[in-house]
Amino acid sequence: MKKPLLEAIKERPLLGDGAMGTQLMIAGLEQGNCGEEWNLTHPEKVLAIQRAYVEAGSDCILTNTFGGSRIMLNRHSKADQVAQINKAGVELARQAFGDRDGYVIGDIGPFGGLLEPFGEFKESQVRQAFEEQAAALVEAGADAIIIETQTSLEELLLGIKAAQQAGAVCIVGSMAYDVTLDGSTFRTMMGVEPERAAEFMEENGAHVVALNCGTRMDMIRARDAVERYKSVTGLPIMVQPNAGQPKLINMKVVYDETPEQMVQGLAQLLDTGVNIVGTCCGSTPGHIRVFKRELDQFVESKRNGA
Ligand SMILES: [Zn+2]
Repeated sequence: MKKPLLEAIKERPLLGDGAMGTQLMIAGLEQGNCGEEWNLTHPEKVLAIQRAYVEAGSDCILTNTFGGSRIMLNRHSKADQVAQINKAGVELARQAFGDRDGYVIGDIGPFGGLLEPFGEFKESQVRQAFEEQAAALVEAGADAIIIETQTSLEELLLGIKAAQQAGAVCIVGSMAYDVTLDGSTFRTMMGVEPERAAEFMEENGAHVVALNCGTRMDMIRARDAVERYKSVTGLPIMVQPNAGQPKLINMKVVYDETPEQMVQGLAQLLDTGVNIVGTCCGSTPGHIRVFKRELDQFVESKRNGA
């Protein structure tokens, strides 16, 4: 029997996966189209991407359900397929592991708007959308739920509560930080500092404190964030930074950090005691492959008492 994720990460750091969105684009998804619908219409393409991550060494795979809430799917007139899209997302990620034990993390991204009074979305509407998505992911057998790319504590809380209500045994809260213009620090778009986010997650019952995506949040900044998290919480930590910064080249968005550049920061990041390390936008199975090598070396050197 596979150990629960929260137990497995006590034994050694686990490897997450890399980008899904940018990989779907490479596989032919057009900008602005619904990538989550591909769980039903192009399952073989989603599966191929996730298999590539598993082959590269990922222990944890996020489901292709980032925009799988009713509010997000409604923008593509797919609100009637919330349950099917999320269920298929879990099944594909599970299938990607084949007969290997791996962890399927049900992905809930932002609902894509602002809550009242800043925006037009009622709290109840967002709560219902997250509850519906979390329920579909948990029922389909996800090992954990991640509420990711979050910038506001209000929205994060709705996600955490929805995952709890759905009966998720492991809930990951993941914030997207932006480095400030003067480069001195980082906080979310809504002004949330990492210490506050970590305290808030612990108070509200999340099991893993995470960060992903963000602007100019490279591996060094990710390590800073882990240390800032650790200054206020003993909860496990997951990080998934982007592969550098997006640049527009020939009308295509490309990310500029190669696997070799990114992996240079990995040993120091692992030294902080981080529990799950993956990568976000712009990364590829190539990034995960070099991460795998470095992570294995790290685990080996720990075992030898280094
Ligand atoms: Zn990202």
